[in-house]
Amino acid sequence: MSTVVFEPTEHPHRRRNALNGDWVLVSPHRTKRPWQGQIEKSAQENRPSYDPTCYLCPGNARAGGKQNPQYTSTFVFENDFAALLPDGPRGEVGVGELFQAQAETGTCRVICFSPRHDLTLPLMELSDLRRVVDVWAQQIEELGARPDINYVQIFENKGSIMGSSNPHPHGQIWANYTIPLEPAKEDVQQRAYYDRHSRVLLLDYLTQELEAGVRVVIQNRHWVVVTPYWAVWPFEVLLLPRRHVLALPDLTGDERDALADILKRLTTRYDNLFETSFPYSMGWHGQPTDGQRHPHWQLHAHFYPPLLRSATVKKFMVGYEMLGMPQRDITAEQAADRLRQMSEVHYTMVGDAA
Ligand code: ZN
Repeated sequence: MSTVVFEPTEHPHRRRNALNGDWVLVSPHRTKRPWQGQIEKSAQENRPSYDPTCYLCPGNARAGGKQNPQYTSTFVFENDFAALLPDGPRGEVGVGELFQAQAETGTCRVICFSPRHDLTLPLMELSDLRRVVDVWAQQIEELGARPDINYVQIFENKGSIMGSSNPHPHGQIWANYTIPLEPAKEDVQQRAYYDRHSRVLLLDYLTQELEAGVRVVIQNRHWVVVTPYWAVWPFEVLLLPRRHVLALPDLTGDERDALADILKRLTTRYDNLFETSFPYSMGWHGQPTDGQRHPHWQLHAHFYPPLLRSATVKKFMVGYEMLGMPQRDITAEQAADRLRQMSEVHYTMVGDAA
């Protein structure tokens, strides 16, 4: 039996994700060696502002024969290769206890963030980012009002390493009848906490994170970015509003402006980390759109970046992580510290201001 006192910066341990109930194995002793810094850079991409072969650029033809309008800010359209279809049967379609299935219906849309093929969120103007925020909120309002849609999942898959097929700045919406697995797990945990304490889980979490400080990356008047205590992905962050907000459409104008600000600052820090256009999957979680009020819910965004040590060293979920549980070497505290050290001037702009 060991008599050594547990030290979370030294000893392997597991942390519980209070938001979805999962656990992650943390192995901080494996990063005791000093940081090697950035080893290799990805080739600098020089994309044109308009690409005649891009199916998201204004005026271009999409697969299936439709043509994009000459849009000048954001542009939303129904995905030509939707994973969900609006019309179809509903109900149980499985056979017996061991072969259960349910029919699923829904809608998939694409949101172009900008007509400019060469931009990404950190390189967009604040006023244009604000338009993206407004489109997110408007889409949740519009789709969520439909009786056949009980959850609207907004997300962005950025970078070919994450399987994004097109570098044109865009996100997606999948909206469906049932509540998907991740928000459903978060619903269970947030509801249980609310029932126990009559308090909102993520508001209490944020208060304690702000007190501790070690995992806070950046903040402004309405928003805070933390590397969550239970982070699995390298440089994973949670973006939280300071006040109790159930869903994106509830944000005030000032909160939306502040969201544009913190999105630009966060994604700039990400890009500066390895001087690359930082890949990630990000998305919004808010209350279901089933017509009920869910006061235990708190709006938040997750960013899940796969890069570990450089522009080319990627985390894969393999081996023990597929068969046992997720594992990470860099602690959430170390990741927050690295992100805090980053500049908020985009690396491609350094020198331009002089
Ligand atoms: Zn979530």
